[in-house]
Amino acid sequence: MWRSKINISFGFLITSFVTSQDFNYPKLPSARQLSMNGSLNNMTYSYNNEDTRGPSNWRIFNATCGGFSQSPINIETSNVWRGKAPPLFMDYFTKPVVAITLTNTGHSVNYRLKFIDSAPNRLIWNGMNGKTYIFDSLHIHWGNSCVGGSEHTINGHRYLAEIHLVHFNAKYKYLEAAALQQDGLAVIGIFLETADEANNDGSNNNKFVKFLNNVRQPGQTYLITDTNGIFTVQELIKYEIREYYSYKGSLTTPPCSESVRWIVAKRPVRIYPSEWNLLNQVISFDGRSMTGNNRPVQQINGRNVYEYNYVGNYRHKFDRILWNIP
Ligand SMILES: [Zn+2]
Repeated sequence: MWRSKINISFGFLITSFVTSQDFNYPKLPSARQLSMNGSLNNMTYSYNNEDTRGPSNWRIFNATCGGFSQSPINIETSNVWRGKAPPLFMDYFTKPVVAITLTNTGHSVNYRLKFIDSAPNRLIWNGMNGKTYIFDSLHIHWGNSCVGGSEHTINGHRYLAEIHLVHFNAKYKYLEAAALQQDGLAVIGIFLETADEANNDGSNNNKFVKFLNNVRQPGQTYLITDTNGIFTVQELIKYEIREYYSYKGSLTTPPCSESVRWIVAKRPVRIYPSEWNLLNQVISFDGRSMTGNNRPVQQINGRNVYEYNYVGNYRHKFDRILWNIP
């Protein structure tokens, strides 16, 4: 019943699967609608726990948000299954990008990359015989320097922020269809942590913050074609992902569909406070600062969490699998 009307806004995993009978809040405009009309009316959920639409009440208007395989989680490193695996294979990692559509969705800032060619941008999970996921977009969850704003935490430690690279399983053709399937999505989480401003010589800045001033207001969209603001995925996350955690979970925003293979990179990306300030100036759909757009951690409920570390000596990146990744 809750799927009778589908209106998904992806690129940042906020969605509205609710019907008007289920829930009285207005429907959420899709990212594409936002791009077209550049405006927001209302939103179906918030991150403010004093609000009736806050995280502890999401389950009221979307029952899946109260499910048993929800995300994010706290990862206790003393309680993970350890395995060996090749680095993550992302064939778009170094591919040139010619433009980026930046959107303030009201809940996050979303980046849609236009690559130099139209070939599928693949993340291959579990080696050559594994599942193929197609890269869709990326977005960010962040907090302030006191409490942090990553969604996942490691041994209770919350990082400053977490970038999400959203992918959908290639067998489902497009993101909205995949999101309804148990094996539909794969999201890579990349933590951000603060770098020392004293070491900022301008040589290692993060391009993804440079045009945030153009989308401070909810609903604003900006097309980045300036080389100062265009980045490849490699330029964004700086390193090949060789060490990561993985588990089965959900979207971290309503409707909280339990369709996500999570891949959480261990190594954070560093960001200077002066860059960070640009994120803090972004305004949420409710007129507040968007800072704090992270869902509280959820119960693990017996799920296995795996930790993978790179082992070298591959003749070719994916010509053998050392450990069978579930
Ligand atoms: Zn997210």
